[in-house]
Amino acid sequence: MECLFCKIVAGEIPSTKVYEDEFVYAFKDINPIAPVHVLFIPKQHISGASAVTAENAEIVGKIFTAIAQYAAQEKLDSGFRVITNCGEDAGQTVPHLHFHLLAGQPMGWSPKSGV
Ligand code: 5GP
Ligand code: ZN
Repeated sequence: MECLFCKIVAGEIPSTKVYEDEFVYAFKDINPIAPVHVLFIPKQHISGASAVTAENAEIVGKIFTAIAQYAAQEKLDSGFRVITNCGEDAGQTVPHLHFHLLAGQPMGWSPKSGV
C-alpha cells in the first residue's frame, strides 16, 4: 500500500482526526490555508473525482453528509467551502479522493473570479 491517505486511514501515518465513521475519515490538513482546513476522504481507495463511478458514488453522499454534520457541530454558520482537485491542472498532489473543507474567514477567491 503506497497511498499516503490509505496509510493515514490505517493509522500508519499519524493525523489529527476530527471525524470518523464506517466509510469516511476526516483530519486536519498539515498545511492549513484557512482557520478551518479539514480533509474528508473515503476509507476506500478512490484515486480522485475522475474515478467516481455508479458503483462507488454512494461514498460521495456519505462524505457530504459528514461535512454537513461537522459544519453544524463546529458552528460554521457564516459559511464554508468544499473543494476537490482532480489531476495535474487542478494541482492534485495526493491521488486519493479528498474534499478540502475551508472555513473561518471570508474566501478571497471564487469561481466567479476565473481561474
Ligand atoms: P491536493 O493538493 O491533492 O488537493 O491536497 C492534498 C492536501 O493534503 C494538501 O492540502 C496537503 O497539505 C495535505 N497533506 C499532504 N500530506 C499530508 C499529511 O501527511 N498529513 C496531512 N494531515 N495532510 C497532508
Ligand atoms: Zn488511498
